Amino acid sequence: MENCLFCRIINKEIPVQPVFENESVIVIRDINPQAPTHLLAIPKKHYAGIHDVPADDKEVFSSLFGAVGEVAKKFGLDLAGYRQVINSGESTGQTVHHIHVHILSGRDFTWPPG
Ligand code: AMP
Ligand code: ZN
Repeated sequence: MENCLFCRIINKEIPVQPVFENESVIVIRDINPQAPTHLLAIPKKHYAGIHDVPADDKEVFSSLFGAVGEVAKKFGLDLAGYRQVINSGESTGQTVHHIHVHILSGRDFTWPPG
């Protein structure tokens, strides 16, 4: 989608070095990391939010979380522990309206989250 930051990254209009990429998902490092490891898993198809994915396209979720799992193993996050965050809407601080899973690791996290 035009003017979507993550679509521009996916289309290589903005150069990044992905830590993982396959036909449906790209995983990049967050430009403003909130933990020693802070990655973003992004489906290549543009949907603004989880609730925008139609019933006949749930494959988006299996490929997205399949990639999260692969990357967790690749970086040893399965052993270290990792938090996954999906912000949805202004009240949660969402700034990019293209589905993405934050993957955070390398420090202790509080619960409940802020
Ligand atoms: P959210 O606030 O949940 O929508 O998350 C958007 C995230 O994208 C933030 O954590 C930003 O730091 C991150 N971000 C913004 N621009 C870039 C970029 N060019 N490359 C990597 N991450 C970015
Ligand atoms: Zn997009």
